[in-house]
Amino acid sequence: MPKSEPVINPFETAKRQVDIVADIIGLDEATREELKHPKREISVYFPVRMDNNSYRVFTGYRVQYNMARGPCKGGIRYHPQVTLDEVRALAAWMTWKCAVVGIPYGGAKGGVICDPKHMSKGELERLTRRYTSEISFMLGPEIDIPAPDVYTDSQTMAWIMDTYSMGKGYSVPGVVTGKPISLGGSEGRAEATGRGCAYVVREAAKDIGLRVKGGTVAVQGFGNAGSVTANILHDEQGAKIVAVSDSRGGIYKADGLNPHEVEEHKTKTGSVVGFPGAKDISNEEVLEMKADILIPAALENQITSKNADKIQARLIGEAANGPTVPEADKVLFEKKITVLPDILANAGGVTVSYFEWAQDIQGYFWPLAEVNERLEQVMVRSYADVHKVATERKVHNRTAAYVLAIQRVVDAIRIRGIYP
Ligand code: NAD
Repeated sequence: MPKSEPVINPFETAKRQVDIVADIIGLDEATREELKHPKREISVYFPVRMDNNSYRVFTGYRVQYNMARGPCKGGIRYHPQVTLDEVRALAAWMTWKCAVVGIPYGGAKGGVICDPKHMSKGELERLTRRYTSEISFMLGPEIDIPAPDVYTDSQTMAWIMDTYSMGKGYSVPGVVTGKPISLGGSEGRAEATGRGCAYVVREAAKDIGLRVKGGTVAVQGFGNAGSVTANILHDEQGAKIVAVSDSRGGIYKADGLNPHEVEEHKTKTGSVVGFPGAKDISNEEVLEMKADILIPAALENQITSKNADKIQARLIGEAANGPTVPEADKVLFEKKITVLPDILANAGGVTVSYFEWAQDIQGYFWPLAEVNERLEQVMVRSYADVHKVATERKVHNRTAAYVLAIQRVVDAIRIRGIYP
């Protein structure tokens, strides 16, 4: 992975992105400041009993960035390098993401500094339940609705739902999304982020005259978002997945990998590395290789001013949040590489989370085909909206997506007015 030196603070990136758009749409200073600050945030320090009967104090955050358009929505990340500024940035991006796809939510994010790879299931459950208790006064189906993010999953969401519900004395499935189906989860949620990403890649490829069928794809980060994007591009659109990677390294096969077999190998061995018949390569090589489509699906700050000029893909679909820093955007735009920005490309997850929440509140569940059809409509329409702004204003897609999203948030702020 390219080391980003000096370390790039993702919240500084998020604020710079607001400034770029504020200049374009002519925002006044006060609104600009409002958009560059979270509405509400909390840090919690809480003890967790470990398996050896000792206890450790963990640090967690929840940031509610903006709720002008509706309840806050955003995932919870477990990672040793979580910082408050990272959570703020992710919460800001959630705000713009919900606005760009036109779903009635504000943005939030949570994180706990921990190393889930070195914790038992019992320790993770106790950590999740205590963290939930610490922040539960801020949560609720009409207030703030968490979801999975890096190293959290449907099991984590089930524990959150149960802990919150125990506090209320009745079941509240609408307090989190990304739950198991048996607890009020939605059909199609598990693969929604990757599916949504594959839909916008298909739409953008049409616009730039790139054939996805037979085209080559490299995926950085073969986790939930990355592996599903690969599966759908491979299975439904006929693309050739030539390289994938995870935190331990990457693999390459010129005539294409079967992403399902790679997934099985990763489940068995813990990594994509060592997949039979493929060549082991570095993460840098995955990003910089000659492939038509690049899917960054790991963490932020992967495409920087250091490697942007080496990127050879024609189309980048950002399944990850914040994988490209602003300086790199400029380079990619000049190289005429089409970037589908994170707030659009990975919005499929939050879109089906919204469907899940709507189903929970109604107590009425939709079949998979209906979920996917509605998801496709949202992604296709949102891509078209972004593309139109990009073409009209002659800006790259990220700026266009931000213009669209921030304008929608600003409209909500203005029409609501200032209380009191
Ligand atoms: P995940 O934990 O399932 O997968 C992350 C993958 O990235 C893992 O395979 C991990 O090994 C790999 N990875 C970690 N560090 C890496 C590195 N340095 N180089 C290469 N690979 C590395 O997480 P996920 O849910 O797929 O999330 C991935 C990204 O997608 C994050 O940025 C997340 O915010 C974003 N995202 C996820 C969803 C979702 O619904 N899962 C929705 C929107 C955005």
